[in-house]
Amino acid sequence: AIRICKLGKSFGDYDAIKDVNISVPKGAFLVLVGPSGCGKSTLLRLLAGLESPTEGEIALDGRVVSSGASGIAVEPGARKAGLVFQSYALWPHMTVAGNISWPLKVAKWPKQVRDSRVDEVLSLLGIGNLADRFPAEISGGQQQRVAIARTIAPKPSILLFDEPLSNLDAKLRVEMRSELMRIHRATGATSVYVTHDQVEAMTMASHVIVLNNGKVEQSASPYELLENPRTTFVASFIGTPP
Ligand code: ATP
Ligand code: MG
Repeated sequence: AIRICKLGKSFGDYDAIKDVNISVPKGAFLVLVGPSGCGKSTLLRLLAGLESPTEGEIALDGRVVSSGASGIAVEPGARKAGLVFQSYALWPHMTVAGNISWPLKVAKWPKQVRDSRVDEVLSLLGIGNLADRFPAEISGGQQQRVAIARTIAPKPSILLFDEPLSNLDAKLRVEMRSELMRIHRATGATSVYVTHDQVEAMTMASHVIVLNNGKVEQSASPYELLENPRTTFVASFIGTPP
């Protein structure tokens, strides 16, 4: 579950996030859409703990992890939130298995437990055959699978995706959509997914938030959003003239 109250984030005198309120239950698949620069990545970084809010509060699974006022700031590693980047950012000098195992090693999992978890996520992502390859020896789509495997390995309860499929070709992107949904369900996590792709947003989301200029324009189910866009901005952004 994710609860965001009156969240604000400024960079100098620029307000990137303004008075954002979001509440989704455990297991939700929340999709964030909005024009370039509207604050989508900033919001994910706030959730991951890579940025701290100027104002407001974030609670993950009922636990306050960031608070502008009281200064609560739970470290990224202690939030049970995993971020998947657009650029996969794999370690080039480590094998696929090594990459996936790395965060578990950092979290001091015993070797045996680590190895069996690596096998588990390799098979969940269907890449068991790639365990001993290096990132340079696998395709872009396979690298993306490894990046996802690495993120889910420590069993985060919040999954954050920043346009994870945008570097893939159209066919692979469609294939990966259902893969991601399968992984989302298998992990039981609450996911937040940023995309520029309207079809992706409408087919994957349980909840959609349209951001504009750091503010929530509308928060709704995909169906509600299509049927009942609240503003002309939302209507034009999701491509249904009112
Ligand atoms: P895109 O779709 O292009 O990825 P976005 O919605 O993810 O855009 P953000 O990266 O969240 O946008 O940026 C929101 C705004 O905040 C932008 O105007 C950006 O320039 C600004 N911003 C983000 N990070 C910083 C920073 N560290 N310092 C100053 N300004 C920043
Ligand atoms: Mg971004």
